Amino acid sequence: MLMIMKTPKTFTIVTFGCQMNKSDSELMEVSLTQEGFVKSHPYADIIIFNTCSVRKHAEDRAIAHIIEARSSHKQSIIVVAGCMAQRLRQELRTTYGVDLVVGPYHSPAIGSIIKNYIQNKDIREYTSQDVNDFASRIHPQLVTHKDELPWHKWVTISHGCENYCAYCIVPYVRGKLISFPSQQIIDYCKLLIDNGITEITLLGQNVNQYGQDSGDIPFYSLLEKIATLSGLYKLNFLTSHPKDFNKEILLVMKDNPVIAKSIHLPLQSGSDTILQAMNRQYTMKHYYSIIEEIHKLLPMSSISTDLIVGFPGETQKDFEDTLAAVHTIQFDEAFTYKYSPREGTHAYTLPDSVPDTVKQERLDMLIQTVRDISQKRLMNHIHTTTDMIVERISKKSDNEVMGKTIYNHPIIIKGGKDDIGKKFTVTIVSLKGSTLYGERSA
Ligand code: SF4
Repeated sequence: MLMIMKTPKTFTIVTFGCQMNKSDSELMEVSLTQEGFVKSHPYADIIIFNTCSVRKHAEDRAIAHIIEARSSHKQSIIVVAGCMAQRLRQELRTTYGVDLVVGPYHSPAIGSIIKNYIQNKDIREYTSQDVNDFASRIHPQLVTHKDELPWHKWVTISHGCENYCAYCIVPYVRGKLISFPSQQIIDYCKLLIDNGITEITLLGQNVNQYGQDSGDIPFYSLLEKIATLSGLYKLNFLTSHPKDFNKEILLVMKDNPVIAKSIHLPLQSGSDTILQAMNRQYTMKHYYSIIEEIHKLLPMSSISTDLIVGFPGETQKDFEDTLAAVHTIQFDEAFTYKYSPREGTHAYTLPDSVPDTVKQERLDMLIQTVRDISQKRLMNHIHTTTDMIVERISKKSDNEVMGKTIYNHPIIIKGGKDDIGKKFTVTIVSLKGSTLYGERSA
């Protein structure tokens, strides 16, 4: 009897990790749709895991999903894309029965890669990091893909990182810095605005290094060109690196009201010894000089940061330096982490010298300090006027809506579903917990 094999047609993408991965998943969806595949959930012929390697926990979670999918969907093509694909490569096929491994350079071309796999079953691993194999990230068809907030769009401006912070796996899995051509980015932003997008967030591992690899315009010029496009309500950017952040960026922020007055500037540690061990390439003196400049040029802006406790060799004194820096700088918000070693990084070769109980104590103390300060910082906004974009109906009342101010603080005002996506000028009247309450200005 002649067996007729069904041609794989449907796909599903399971995404782990950061916003960069979410954007890559959108690109993969465009590529698969272009090749005639159809999105389906959850029983698809092709199951793609777009993975993250930043923390061991993230990899363990993805592996559990891969094992489950392999055993329950024996006929499906299992594909692993993203950072874990780049890091574990062949191991994913030999140990976990994955059919196809597609690293970040190749994932936007995944439609044709899978088509080739179905037809020829020849190539099963796409992990070259040759710049000629880098698939473009700016795709006009992404315009039709709606973000969670339908008026907002993430726009990736660069890929990869060459800073080699000692604890970070990103440079190994995402490769060297590749800045996308500025004119392409600007044209894409124009297209987004013409299609109703009013808020854009520019995205890169270190946006401040934009153009350094290609000789394109510097980041502050790109920021200015996008900020002056007519029709935009709000422009954000992520992430900055203190060694490359400069005064020109602040001047552009100051002169362009649509740019959110919110700066995320990862400090990681307040100790020069630890900063050096982390290969962060700046000192506390330099970091303080940026903060001083921010206060001078954008006195009301909010400053957030990332902090790691328990990096190898961190003494009690080093930790106290971090606490002191937090007190001096008065961060509006801080994302705090316990150091955990990542195989493949330089820090992995160092003895993990701080016991977990000590890491936890330091983390708890840091979180409490940050919370107290951020509460005080929010109080400073009461009786001030700011712009906000409404994001959703408040969880507490149908007559209230929640959004974010130009400083990216959550705020609640009276309103209804017709206000979602609209911009209002509001006066902040009170603070409850960590949420500001405001009233629309006349
Ligand atoms: S700047 Fe440092 S922490 Fe950020 S992605 Fe690059 S290596 Fe990792």
